[in-house]
Amino acid sequence: MNLTQEQEEKFKKLGINSWCELALMIPHKYEDLRLHDKLQTHQLQLIDATVESVYRAPNSIQVTFFAHNFGHTITGVLFRPKPYMLHQYKVGDRDYYYGMIECKTGHCSMSMPRKVITVGAITPKYKSVLRTDVMLRFVQNYLTRENLKSEGLSDDIIDEVLKLHFPIEPLINLNELNEKTVRSLKYIELFSYMKQLSAKRRYFKSLTTTCGDYKEWALSLPFKLIKEQISAIEDIKSDFNKDVSAKRMIVGDVGSGKTMVILASVIMMLPNRSILMAPTTILANQLFEETRKFLPHVKSVLVTNKTKKIDLNEYDFIIGTHALLYRELPVSSLVMVDEQHRFGTKQRNKLEKLVSIGEALDQRGQALNQAKPHYLQFSATPIPRTQAMIETAHIDVSLITSTPFKKDITSRVIHKNDFKELLLHVENEIGKNNQVLLVYPLVEQSEVLEYQSIEEARGYWENRFENVYVTHGKDKDKEEVLREFSKKGNILIATTVVEVGISLPRLSTVVIVGAERLGLSTLHQLRGRVSRTGLKGYCYLYTNQSQSERLEKFTQTTSGFEIANLDLKFRKSGDLLKGHNQSGSQFKWVDLAEDVEVVKNVKSGLLDSESSSE
Ligand code: ADP
Ligand code: MG
Repeated sequence: MNLTQEQEEKFKKLGINSWCELALMIPHKYEDLRLHDKLQTHQLQLIDATVESVYRAPNSIQVTFFAHNFGHTITGVLFRPKPYMLHQYKVGDRDYYYGMIECKTGHCSMSMPRKVITVGAITPKYKSVLRTDVMLRFVQNYLTRENLKSEGLSDDIIDEVLKLHFPIEPLINLNELNEKTVRSLKYIELFSYMKQLSAKRRYFKSLTTTCGDYKEWALSLPFKLIKEQISAIEDIKSDFNKDVSAKRMIVGDVGSGKTMVILASVIMMLPNRSILMAPTTILANQLFEETRKFLPHVKSVLVTNKTKKIDLNEYDFIIGTHALLYRELPVSSLVMVDEQHRFGTKQRNKLEKLVSIGEALDQRGQALNQAKPHYLQFSATPIPRTQAMIETAHIDVSLITSTPFKKDITSRVIHKNDFKELLLHVENEIGKNNQVLLVYPLVEQSEVLEYQSIEEARGYWENRFENVYVTHGKDKDKEEVLREFSKKGNILIATTVVEVGISLPRLSTVVIVGAERLGLSTLHQLRGRVSRTGLKGYCYLYTNQSQSERLEKFTQTTSGFEIANLDLKFRKSGDLLKGHNQSGSQFKWVDLAEDVEVVKNVKSGLLDSESSSE
């Protein structure tokens, strides 16, 4: 895009980067500065008028106009006038005035008449950091079909949006934009967003272009990989076969079998080295154990902050926690991050560096020309399909929307009067050697919250049951507590902050106290902890709210992807209490829950515009 200096300055002031974004700054209202010969009361209208008399009242100025276009007089009224205003009206002068016309008992007035110089058109009014007339001129001069076309928009979309900036129809009510116009605005909004995303993506040479096969290994497994595991692995395989480094996110519910995708990637990468980072020691341990079990012949090693200094060069697969970030790491052709959503921004930034380890030096210590390892991220936070499609503008995405074995979880919304029943259930499950997780909203007592805190509730459970464990987000020993619980515990009392990343094969029940305070995705994560190995599971959502459609809908599905969509819908309706990720969307026009078509159209539109600009 070639901008003149003036255009660049204006873009900067307006905080925009493209003509598309300028097109989206639609007027908030219009002034009809055409001369009509029919007077309409309660309307802003233009008059062509000669001043007949000026009268100064205590709190106003009254000007008698002869309005030539209507053929009769109209009284202009200026309330609380500034002193200079009186001199603006000279008897005998003829000018154009614009103002609100009101008629009562045959007498017409115009309040706050404003002198207008340029007339004859419908003029858009903009709210922006620029002065109204400066903004108007900028739009009128440069928001052209040509400029919009240069960004890849099609004519019919351009037609629609130009109508808003260059109106030819009389009055347009912005609250009643027609469907076609709204669709075009959605299109432009998403088009512009995705275009910027894809412009941000950088392509690097990959360190390796070899790719082994995983099929023989897959046959050695005690189970058959499911279709979506295979298609994710195939996606990765085709990434590895390219000479640009992969950047892919694999999204799948808890229990969807992402570890197998990780292991398959390691196999395909051999004889080159892979690194995997996990958010907790427990998880890293678990992944290491699985590696030893399913990849017994691969030289693998576990690195946590307890690991002694060893030469990592000997290994083909390095698994670790963020302790990895503080080690000297050998060059690796593949870098993977498990449960990437659980890393903070700081860690992610460091991680970016980790990914770049191949950038500077190769195995013989020679500088490589901007080559990078392949980079795969694994996430257990299902995202709506629309979101996934948008993400593909800057990162490739593979979704695993099903799980290898159907989880059998009964979910229920319960209230105070169901407590006895709940207690019976808990006794029952413990009797069957199963475990129960109780999630409380707070650690300590609170005056604002109508629910018990962990500290208030723990005594109750400890008195009635044996082997009750308690932990929370700020608990320094939480990993230790979790480990102990997984071996010996009956009941675990925790806050949502404790993400039980480890698999607890005996966990059959989760009870979430104050469930209405939590987002559906959080509830889903918590529920995902039970029934991980096919055990019959139970999820109780305890609430003081007499009715919640949101929670009821949640109990009817276990698909994280469906829940992500529900979440979008309910966020809009604001069922959540304030302060709980009741996030606004990044879009003004696009609705991610509804606008699948728009997303599809934009995707194909972007492809078209890319191929035509080549
Ligand atoms: P995720 O990391 O996606 O939460 P895991 O990779 O831990 O899920 O898999 C959950 C469980 O399912 C593990 O016990 C794993 O061995 C098992 N599993 C994975 N793939 C399959 C499959 N295709 N068939 C049966 N079980 C599987
Ligand atoms: Mg996992």
